[in-house]
Amino acid sequence: MSKQTHSFQAEVKQILHLVTHSLYSNREIFLRELVSNASDACDKLRFEALDNAALLEDAPELAVRVLFDADAKTITIRDNGIGMSADEAAAHLGTIAKSGTREFMSKLDGDQKKDANLIGQFGVGFYSGFIVADRITVETRRAGLPAEQGVRWSSEGTGEYDLETIERTQRGTDVILHLREDAAEYLSTWKLKSIISKYSDHISLPVLMQKDEWDAEAGAQIKTDEWEPVNKAAALWARSKSDVTDAEYQEFYKQISYDSQAPLAYTHNRVEGRTEYTQLLYIPTKAPFDLWNRDKRGGVKLYVKRVFIMDDAETLLPVYLRFVKGVIDSADLPLNVSRELLQESRDVKAIREGSTKRVLSMLEALADSDSAEDKAKYQSFWNEFGAVLKEGIGEDMANAERLAKLYRFASTHADEGVSLADYVSRMKEGQDTIYVITADTLTAAKNSPQLEIFRKKGLEVLLLTDRVDEWLLSHLHEFEGHSLQSVAKGGVDLSKLQDDEEKKKAEEAAETFKPVLERLKESLKSRVKDVRVTTRLVDSPACVVVEEGDMSAHLARLLKQAGQ
Ligand code: ADP
Ligand code: MG
Repeated sequence: MSKQTHSFQAEVKQILHLVTHSLYSNREIFLRELVSNASDACDKLRFEALDNAALLEDAPELAVRVLFDADAKTITIRDNGIGMSADEAAAHLGTIAKSGTREFMSKLDGDQKKDANLIGQFGVGFYSGFIVADRITVETRRAGLPAEQGVRWSSEGTGEYDLETIERTQRGTDVILHLREDAAEYLSTWKLKSIISKYSDHISLPVLMQKDEWDAEAGAQIKTDEWEPVNKAAALWARSKSDVTDAEYQEFYKQISYDSQAPLAYTHNRVEGRTEYTQLLYIPTKAPFDLWNRDKRGGVKLYVKRVFIMDDAETLLPVYLRFVKGVIDSADLPLNVSRELLQESRDVKAIREGSTKRVLSMLEALADSDSAEDKAKYQSFWNEFGAVLKEGIGEDMANAERLAKLYRFASTHADEGVSLADYVSRMKEGQDTIYVITADTLTAAKNSPQLEIFRKKGLEVLLLTDRVDEWLLSHLHEFEGHSLQSVAKGGVDLSKLQDDEEKKKAEEAAETFKPVLERLKESLKSRVKDVRVTTRLVDSPACVVVEEGDMSAHLARLLKQAGQ
């Protein structure tokens, strides 16, 4: 085929216009896109070669090479992957075939700002090369086709592209970017290396660059024939679980978390179905100093098909799991997905739900384990992160029940590690309520006069001393059909647990003390709502309680401290 000129599909023209005008502020992403395409092409070849090993020809080692020529002002992204036939080149690099693309295009309305946002949600891929190049030449040969059926595609990224047949011995594709005047900064080994390691470290193929060497005669760095990998080429999470050792998981955790301690637990899964993704999630052993900052983004990195997309993608897990570190790699999201799109995406919603469940399962496995070691691990987790996990009860209705089971408290029975299930299993005959008290400290809680009658009757009371506990109580109203009730509130009704004689005594006392109550009410009129005879005290003569439904004294104190 001699050289033929073709017109781009109308949509492509629009995309090209947008790419060159709207993505200017983040130009370096062109390399991420092109390296990702090269890596995809190798993946495709590897897949086809499973059935047809001859496709690998005499070059079975798949790799991506990035090279540049400072004089010619070109950057070349080279792969020995599947390549393209002439028809494929015309179809893939001249039209946009993907479904959803048309819908996207129909939303474009020429308003630069709005369109720029939209394009951020769309995989511009190959065309992003035109952000830095005023001409792109693609030379390619489809694996399995003879050398005479090589193809050269070239375009200035405006209305048209040229296609011609060339002789090409190497299988695969060279994408040659002829840089714009203002893109000369990319003609640097250092610059290219740093972009590759930023975005493509975990591409599972090696991305190679030519080694530089100092040449004294020329007084400059010159390129050698030696190629060296510039990425780590190890997407640990993309490997099968059985191929990864515990030591490797631990090492990877260190790399991504900058935590010198080993993680407490981790989980690694490939999820298939409507949305496909891989998750590798870690629970740290120690809480970071800024755990309390709810604005701090989470520690989960987002990848799309092993290409790094962003750090701290907060929408991948709910805020109350912000201590979790790790990687989520989606097979469905577009490569240049924006934070805005992440918030709306149904795929992301499915990922968040699935990952939340995984983290909870990981915690449950420790909490419910028969091994004393796991139980101790869970308690240590709870001591570090329990207060954060408590935020979940109000945030994550769908998992409220599972969360409540994971919660641990101090009680009049044990100083730590009491679950609501433990409490329920120790409830007295006739008791249907879970009693709790909130206070600033464990000592204050334990010494509260409100507890006297509960002690006397042998009733367990949970002692809640975290700042978030008031908030917890406002969301956690019951557990397995038993309501939670603060013993510091007015209407604690122990009558079901009283025997007849106690009841009679209480009634008599109320009668006897009537005149005293009247006088107390009169003299404390401006400071209290009511004065009552109570059966809840044993040793102390009197105590202050708040009305059911009112703020507890503890919460009132907290708010006062906070200046409210
Ligand atoms: P996407 O990668 O999301 O499909 P791109 O615009 O990045 O979109 O690429 C469009 C298509 O061009 C690819 O799907 C692929 O078929 C083809 N392509 C691009 N680069 C290469 C390459 N290096 N080797 C083979 N095919 C390629
Ligand atoms: Mg692509």
